[in-house]
Amino acid sequence: MLDLHLHSTFSDGTCTPEELVRQARELGVYGIALTDHDTTQGIHRFMEAGRACGVVTVSGVEVSADYSNGTMHILGYGLNPDDEALNERLQWIREGRRERNRIIHAKLERLGMPIPWTEVEACAGGDVIGRPHIARVLMQHGYVKDVREAFRKYLVRGKPAYEGRRRLKPADAVGMIVQAGGVPVLAHPSTLNAGGLDLREVVLGLVEAGLQGIEVFYPEHTQDMRRRFRKLAEAFDLVPTGGSDFHGALTPDLVIGRGFGNLDVEDAVLDRLLARRKKP
Ligand code: MN
Ligand code: MN
Ligand code: MN
Repeated sequence: MLDLHLHSTFSDGTCTPEELVRQARELGVYGIALTDHDTTQGIHRFMEAGRACGVVTVSGVEVSADYSNGTMHILGYGLNPDDEALNERLQWIREGRRERNRIIHAKLERLGMPIPWTEVEACAGGDVIGRPHIARVLMQHGYVKDVREAFRKYLVRGKPAYEGRRRLKPADAVGMIVQAGGVPVLAHPSTLNAGGLDLREVVLGLVEAGLQGIEVFYPEHTQDMRRRFRKLAEAFDLVPTGGSDFHGALTPDLVIGRGFGNLDVEDAVLDRLLARRKKP
């Protein structure tokens, strides 16, 4: 059992890297990857905890790419967390996120929903503060009944407190991961909102940039989606990967390695994936 998509307190998860490793060990998960948004800062602790507990740990990251029809996230695996060019780009993205947060905060205030920023920071705990934390504080102040409602009514594109942010072009996101010694994988293709030929077209563009895998196994994917994405993986010689997108207390229904209960990522996927690393 593998889980190649986990978030820690270094981005918007609520578990430390050590807690993720401990839970994986208790659940009998063979291998896990830490894929925090826009940062590699939790990786060293994660790898160290893996060595200490006998869980196979893989370095990773998740970045958003510029894509207008929906949400495009690119995962990177087995990369060098200290790669300078990678960390410079990630820092540029994180600065953009901070700028965006300032604007969202101001918009909420104008909408009559002021929240103290220190509470959002406390909620985040780590360096990466994002909309899930803002949503949580909105809930704590009684402006919405849950995180989902905060997103639906205010924080998603088209809603009054939404603000876009700096993003890499898809090919640049893929290239950045390859340059850092990693293997780029398209995350949760369902969020691209693309079907059939459009999806093939998007994936083809990413493959030309160096994409090596596609996240077939994902809690929100129906059996039909799994079948479609698996076929796509076969057609483009991509490794079919998977993970739960576990965010700790923010995703209380998810279990590491199992998702909603049927994640089923085979151990053999990991070797296939890491074999795709470009030799320096
Ligand atoms: Mn997240
Ligand atoms: Mn994602
Ligand atoms: Mn994620």
